[in-house]
Amino acid sequence: MAAKQITIIGAGIGGLTAALALNHFGFDVRVIEQTDALQDVGAGIQISPNGFCVLDALGLGPALDAVSVRGGAVSLRDYQAGKPVAHLDLNRFGYAIGYRFFHRADLIQTLKQACDAHGISVMLGCRVEHIINDRGDVETTKGSLNSDLLIGADGIHSKTRAHILGQSQEPPFTGQVAWRALVPNRINHPNAAWVHMGPHRHIVSYPLRGGDILNVVMVQEQAKWAQDGWNVPDDPSVVRHMFADFSGPIADVLAGLDTVHKWGLFRHPVASQWWRNRIVMMGDAAHPTLPFMAQGAVQAIEDAWALAATLAKYDDAAAAFGAYQALRLPRVQRVVAAANRNAWKYHLAFGPLRFGAHTALRVASTIMPASLVRQFDWVYNYDITKAV
Ligand SMILES: Cc1cc2nc3c(=O)[nH]c(=O)nc-3n(C[C@H](O)[C@H](O)[C@H](O)COP(=O)(O)OP(=O)(O)OC[C@H]3O[C@@H](n4cnc5c(N)ncnc54)[C@H](O)[C@@H]3O)c2cc1C
Repeated sequence: MAAKQITIIGAGIGGLTAALALNHFGFDVRVIEQTDALQDVGAGIQISPNGFCVLDALGLGPALDAVSVRGGAVSLRDYQAGKPVAHLDLNRFGYAIGYRFFHRADLIQTLKQACDAHGISVMLGCRVEHIINDRGDVETTKGSLNSDLLIGADGIHSKTRAHILGQSQEPPFTGQVAWRALVPNRINHPNAAWVHMGPHRHIVSYPLRGGDILNVVMVQEQAKWAQDGWNVPDDPSVVRHMFADFSGPIADVLAGLDTVHKWGLFRHPVASQWWRNRIVMMGDAAHPTLPFMAQGAVQAIEDAWALAATLAKYDDAAAAFGAYQALRLPRVQRVVAAANRNAWKYHLAFGPLRFGAHTALRVASTIMPASLVRQFDWVYNYDITKAV
């Protein structure tokens, strides 16, 4: 379709990828971002093959290779024994395009540099205060802006979502809290994602930046979120105490915690309507998820391609947005449901049930290791660039 100018709200992973995808399909696009500098939190992010294939199709494969660690396996481990329950060998049974671990800042900077190279304007320090009408005219801290189409990639507290759905509600607390930290890799952690599973808690760890540092995410169920804001610094000794019964090498990782940030995990349900007239949304704005499938950003990346490709394919915005939503909604619903189930699976509290589940995983990992990996084919072995 012939859209003269497309504006994207939000220069997160979703918004920047959408800008590159729209540019790839020949659209004139700009991004507006409320923060003054693009420096995503000091934490890691896993990008599975279904996300990486989009970034590769946008020509970013080599640049991203240079700043990522290729993950060879996922190791599901018991918290008390500190040893593997199941080993998912992604190299042997996995995906040619590979599973990657990034420092978030490296991924964001690579996307931003690609935008700069393509002449895409990313206006920093420009906050959308109000969406004026259904054409997508917006009032920002730098004045009003008009465009032919407006894309909301504005995350969990999205103004676009509130406008499209006609309701402005804060996302509810999920009962899960995550502490995030980066620590030096003193345990020779392999190029794998470790998931230590314990009652009401789990820890995910994986290496970043050539393997020199580890990203550690510690999750615990909690009845309420009492803090002001949803991301606050916390005392490492409090976290160590909470996970004191985790043993093996992960206990040494916990001993090295220096700076930790505590995140309340909040989430809206997946939106049933993603667009209205000339306005559409994507990523966390449309479908925030628990991070227990490591798919939030990856699904935003898939959205980015789907949205750009459908806009290129259809003559009018309504047809394109309708096709985009029809393609994306069932898939993200499945991903979000799988992440919710993982919260339950990882946190099994009743001893005999945990023992039974871990035994079944151990047996499956020994006698049918390929099937254990292949059960994730629907997530990882999916290439949106071929689907649209
Ligand atoms: C602990 C944890 C671990 C995770 N691990 C993974 C993982 O390994 N893999 C994975 O794929 N996902 C992971 N996720 C999920 C992932 O971080 C999110 O799904 C992803 O960042 C969403 O991207 P987005 O671009 O949609 O939104 P965001 O990253 O939230 O970006 C939104 C942007 O919009 C800007 N913005 C908002 N409002 C306005 C406004 N009014 N005006 C201008 N700008 C605005 C914001 O400043 C921000 O830059 C994890 C999440 C958590 C909490």
